[in-house]
Parts: sequence; C-alpha cells; structure tokens
Amino acid sequence: MAESIAKHDAENAARLARFRHALGAIAYDDAHQTLKAMSRDWSAVSPLLRKSLRGRVADAIVAPNTREEIVAIIKAAVAFGIKLIARGGGTANYGQSVPLDGGVLVDFRNYAGIVGVTPTHVRARAGTNMEALDAELRPYGLELRIHPSTRHASTLAGFIAGGSGGIGSIRYGLLRDRGNIAAIELLSIEAEPQTVELRGKATGLAHHAYGTNGLITEIELPLAPAWEWRETVFAFPDFDAALACAVRAGSEDALLLKVLSLQETPIAQLMPAMSGIVPEGHTMLSAMVAKQHRDELVELVEEFGGRLVNEAGEGQGPYGEPLYKFCYGHSLAQVQKREPKFTSVQTLFAGTDLNRQIGDLHPLFAGRLPFRLEFQKSQGRLVAVGSPLFVYENEAQMSAIVAQIQAGGGQVANSHTTSVRAVGMKVVSDADIAFVRRMDPHGLLNPGKIDLAADETDALKTGLATSGWHVEERRLDSAPARASDSRTA
Ligand SMILES: Cc1cc2nc3c(=O)[nH]c(=O)nc-3n(C[C@H](O)[C@H](O)[C@H](O)COP(=O)(O)OP(=O)(O)OC[C@H]3O[C@@H](n4cnc5c(N)ncnc54)[C@H](O)[C@@H]3O)c2cc1C
Repeated sequence: MAESIAKHDAENAARLARFRHALGAIAYDDAHQTLKAMSRDWSAVSPLLRKSLRGRVADAIVAPNTREEIVAIIKAAVAFGIKLIARGGGTANYGQSVPLDGGVLVDFRNYAGIVGVTPTHVRARAGTNMEALDAELRPYGLELRIHPSTRHASTLAGFIAGGSGGIGSIRYGLLRDRGNIAAIELLSIEAEPQTVELRGKATGLAHHAYGTNGLITEIELPLAPAWEWRETVFAFPDFDAALACAVRAGSEDALLLKVLSLQETPIAQLMPAMSGIVPEGHTMLSAMVAKQHRDELVELVEEFGGRLVNEAGEGQGPYGEPLYKFCYGHSLAQVQKREPKFTSVQTLFAGTDLNRQIGDLHPLFAGRLPFRLEFQKSQGRLVAVGSPLFVYENEAQMSAIVAQIQAGGGQVANSHTTSVRAVGMKVVSDADIAFVRRMDPHGLLNPGKIDLAADETDALKTGLATSGWHVEERRLDSAPARASDSRTA
C-alpha cells in the first residue's frame, strides 16, 4: 500500500514537472504556504465543510495574463493529465474552488479588464474584480444589475460560476432569471481548445456549474442606471410588523430598491458594528433605496410602526462598511465575529403569501432561532431567502431544523456540501451532463464537484434532506427550449 502511494506521488510529480516545463514563462507557484492559502475559500462558515475540506491542497497555481496563456495551460493539462480548478477571488462558501484531490489552481485575477461597454451592456474578462468594474462603469451613469455582498474580492467569472444573486436582486431577480446574463464565453479542455459562446437560455449551462464545464474567458452582462443610493436602517419593536412591511416594500415595484433585508432581534445586536444602532429587542430592516424614493420608503416603514435609526450615503454609514455587508452571507459572517459557532441553512420562501408562509413558521423558532431574510424577485415574484440563524450543535440538530422549515413550505438548499447536485440551487439536467462531457471530455476540470449521475456517491455530501431552490417559471407560451450556443474552431 505505502509503496503504491509512493509510486503514485512520484508519477504525479513527474507529470507536474513536464506540465511546468511546457508552460514556459507563465507564472507558476508551488510554495507550500501559497498553496495552503489559495486552496481555501470561505467554506469555513459551514462547520461541516470546515471539517470535510481540511487538508485539501492544490499541487500548484498558475496565473495566466492572456488568452494565449490560458490556451497553453489547457493544452499542457490535457497533454499530461493535470486537473485544473479555476479560481477567482476565492470567496465562494461551498468550497467551489477547493481542490478535492490535488490539481492545479488557475488563478484568473490577472486576466481582467473591460472588453467593451454600450449604454446597455458590458463585456469583460473572466478575472475582472467586480468592485473595480462597478467603479469603471460609474462615470457612464451605469452599474452592474446584481453583485454579491463580496463584491470587493469577487471576480466576474467566480460570481457567474459560483454565485446566485445578491445586491440588486430585489429589482432584477436571480442571476438565473432570463436576461441577467447576456453571454458567457468558455474554452473547452481539449488538446485543441475550442471557444464556445453561450447566449440566452444556454448561459444557464455554465452558470452555477462551479467551473466544471469549461474555463470562462469573457462574460457579457446587462447594465442598470447607477442611482444615488441611500443606506437606510429601520428598527421595529415587532417581527410580524417588520415582515409585513418588508413584503409590502418589496412588492412596491415603483420604489427603486437595491437591497431589502430583515434581521430579527437579536441578530443586529450580535453584529458588533450594528449593536449601538439598532436598539435592544428590535428587529432590523435595512434597505438601499434610490435617493429620489427615500421619503416614500420612510413613510411606508412608519405606516407599519418602524422608525429610521440611521441613514447614510453609500458606504458612509457609522457601521464602517457598505450596508450590504450586513446582509446575505455577510450577515452570518458579522455575527460569527462575536459567536463563531453560529451557522444557518439556506432557505427560499417562494409562496404566494410570504406573510403567511413565514409568519406560520416563525412561532416554531421565535425566541430561539432568529430569522435573517433578504427579499428579492425571481420569475417576477417576490421571494425571500435566508433562514433562522442558530448555534451549531450537530448534524442531527441541523437536520431537525431543515425538516421543520420544509414542513412549513420553505425550500432548503444544502450549503454544507461541495457538490453542484447536492447543493441543489442548480437543477442538473441531461443537457448539463452532455455539456460537461463535451467541454471536458477527459474529466480534468474541478473533479468531484459535479456528479454525472444522480446516484454517484460523494464522501463530502451530508445527510441533510434538502430540496434545492425552485421558483416555477411562469411560461406565457409553450415554445420548446432551444439551446443557442455556437462553437468556433
Ligand atoms: C460572506 C459571504 C457573502 C456572500 N454573498 C453572496 C451573495 O450575496 N451572492 C452570491 O451569489 N454569492 C455570495 N457569496 C458567495 C461568493 O462570494 C460569490 O458567489 C462570489 O461572487 C464568488 O466569486 P469569486 O471570484 O470569489 O469566485 P471563487 O470563489 O474564486 O470561485 C467560485 C466558483 O467559480 C469558479 N470559477 C472562477 N473563475 C472561473 C473561470 N474563469 N472559469 C470557470 N469557472 C470559474 C470556481 O472554480 C468556483 O467553482 C458570499 C460568500 C460569502 C463568504
């Protein structure tokens, strides 16, 4: 046994040496400390992933600057059988870019910059930092429709391949909603890499696929007007009133909102930077609202018994960070600064009456497990994502919470596994499997992240009986779906 492991290690080292030689001057790093740091993402927010991903480290990192270098990396990987794992900012929280069994990380951050801007769209390279991109768009009076709360470190391709939605989703919906991704350009993992441009519905093949079906080189996204956003923080003595207010505000389509987030007491009080702002015992409703609609939002909140406790320009609040860094995944991260054992399960409430759906479930958790909810649109409907926050004890406790939420009609995605299928936010169809096989015929891309068969075993899956996130598409016609990708040699 020891002998065969040593033989395997020696073969791997020899293949890596040949791979490195073939790359010539392309940046290559295999220093142990760098490998350890770069083989991690933010998956440690999950107590289960913290354990299961411990010690998984890449063999090397390459950092291409040009498209030619990306092509050269792919050719060498195919020639010597080297696994490739794309990496952007490394902020994903399901271990999406953590190598499960060695391989070479392809750090895309140097492959960045805008390719073209029109009054409606931007096209940029995969490794473009999202905050830098928004800053470049601002002088044109434009901004990205949607960005994650990790915008400062996220890359465009990392968001499209690993994320789902975020800041802006209250107006524009989830990334997977039609119209939110205009085009994705990828390279296949073949001896002669092919360029594939996905447009329209076919962009869904590469979206949230964790970089398992090609290396993304460019992305084209629709743009939105960059309003002057006001950060507003409201306090409510009563959760039900805060919920009703959030549902009403989220349904007022004429109000220009960019974020709408509700955090039941004591979540705000557990966030060190918010505790002095939201009074004890009060639920926090936070919103980014266009300056021209600020008065209407304050009026609406007051009608529901809430009051404005802070208002600031974008990024100017006394809490020291942009307001969106107190919602979505950042809400848990803020709470973990005080109590690292807090965790959550990712729930989608997509019922037609959110007040009733969430209101009926709330008494089961009230006083024990406070709710965090972000309101957003999906398929033209108002939905809420989030969950109760709780101090993790064990998997059985977490499973019981999942079961309670599901009994109340909430859909739970599994944020404690690295498998696309097991996380459940993307439905893996036959078309997805065919696309993986076509783009990565040698199985070299991010191995272990997408199960080609539903019954494949995966040591990193958990026993949580999760159901994924599904918002029914309201079809207005019965036209058959048509893949509209093109392929050029
Ligand atoms: C505190 C916190 C808050 C978050 N908030 C949000 C949020 O609001 N919304 C949201 O959607 N997500 C959120 N996330 C998850 C994550 O931050 C985002 O999805 C982010 O956009 C990922 O970008 P990244 O550049 O860091 O990607 P990485 O983590 O580097 O990679 C993510 C995935 O993309 C793949 N990938 C990267 N580059 C390429 C490429 N060129 N070609 C092919 N595949 C590629 C990687 O292999 C990996 O599977 C949050 C995470 C944390 C920890």
